[in-house]
Amino acid sequence: MSTGNHAQRQVGRGPRHGPRHGPGHDHGACVTQALEMAREVCAREGARLTPLREQVLTIVWQSHRPSGAYDVLDKLAATHKSARPPTVYRALDFLLSLGLIHKIESLNAYLGCAQVGPAHDGVFLICRACGDAQELAGLPVETTLSKVVTDTGFKPEHRTIELTGLCAQCAP
Ligand SMILES: [Zn+2]
Ligand SMILES: [Zn+2]
Ligand SMILES: [Zn+2]
Repeated sequence: MSTGNHAQRQVGRGPRHGPRHGPGHDHGACVTQALEMAREVCAREGARLTPLREQVLTIVWQSHRPSGAYDVLDKLAATHKSARPPTVYRALDFLLSLGLIHKIESLNAYLGCAQVGPAHDGVFLICRACGDAQELAGLPVETTLSKVVTDTGFKPEHRTIELTGLCAQCAP
C-alpha cells in the first residue's frame, strides 16, 4: 500500500505576514507584495500598469476590507482631482480582468487578491462586524460545484461564493 496522503487540498494560504488584525500584522508587506505581483502580471500579459491604475490598486489594498467604487474615488480624488466615476470603474475593470482584485458581489465592493495566479473566483469569508474579507482558494467545493454544474449543461459566466458571519477576532 502506498503511503498516499490525500490531504493535499490547499485551504487558502492564509495570512503570510502574521495575523490579519492587530499589531502583529504587517500590512505594508501585503501592499508591497500586491504591487510587486501586479507589476509581474502586467509585464507577463503585456498590460500597462499606469500610475493611476497602480494607485487604484493601492487604495483597494489599503485594508482587508472590501472598498466600494466611491470610496476608491474619494481617496483617489486627493491626488487626482479630475478623477470621475468612469475613471475609477475603468481602472477597477482593468484590475479585475487581470485577476488582481475581486468583486464582492454582496457588498458591491472590491478586494485585492492575495493569491494572484491561475484564474479563480475564490470563496470569500466576510465578517459582518469588522468588514474584513478573507479569500480562500483551491477549496474542493469549487471543483465539485464546477463538475455538478457542467453535468446540467448550464454555462456559468460568473460564480460567487460568499459566506457572511463573524471572523475569529470578532466571534465571541
Ligand atoms: Zn494585510
Ligand atoms: Zn483571488
Ligand atoms: Zn471581524
